[in-house]
Amino acid sequence: MQLLSLTIDGFKSFANKTTIKFEEGMTGIVGPNGSGKSNIIEAIRWVMGEQSARHLRGDKMVDVIFNGAANRAPLNRALVSITFDNSDHYLASDFNELTITRKLFRNGDSEYLLNGNKVRLKDIVDLFIDSGLGRESFSIISQGRIEAIFNGKPEDRRAIIETVAGVAKYRKNKQTAERR
Ligand code: ATP
Ligand code: MG
Repeated sequence: MQLLSLTIDGFKSFANKTTIKFEEGMTGIVGPNGSGKSNIIEAIRWVMGEQSARHLRGDKMVDVIFNGAANRAPLNRALVSITFDNSDHYLASDFNELTITRKLFRNGDSEYLLNGNKVRLKDIVDLFIDSGLGRESFSIISQGRIEAIFNGKPEDRRAIIETVAGVAKYRKNKQTAERR
């Protein structure tokens, strides 16, 4: 599995549609303060299902939509697409290539697409479950997260270990079953 490309359009500081292609190996993103490096990471988090506006440095989710600049009017929707090479079927899908798209409109309407077809958030979350990627995974570690792990309660650290070990899925399924 490999990250192939990321398209950001109307998300945070990316008023113009921008596509980043990732080559094999390591990619570094450099730029002056405030140029949008962290926004790129947040776009990746967001398209993979992040539900917390706070994790994206906002108060409300619509804060991710480009809200204008000196010479640019605010936009009405944010769109992020991410494409993975899945020819090794690392992600639980028969597709060799997977493109996930998330859209959010200023009126609060939102949409997830998987290879162009409308899906639910749950489908996106399930796709990444146990992959080490996706929402609440440890593939993206922010500065604050490291502190939280160090200073956290033992139970919280246990939850981290369960997630990394792949046990969290069964706990979640059990909770869902018990609620029915
Ligand atoms: P640093 O090197 O300081 O970490 P950075 O390259 O990570 O900087 P970001 O934090 O990604 O920079 O980008 C911050 C910029 O994004 C700020 O100028 C901020 O105004 C802009 N920004 C954030 N949200 C929006 C939005 N919804 N609409 C327009 N601009 C936004
Ligand atoms: Mg930054």
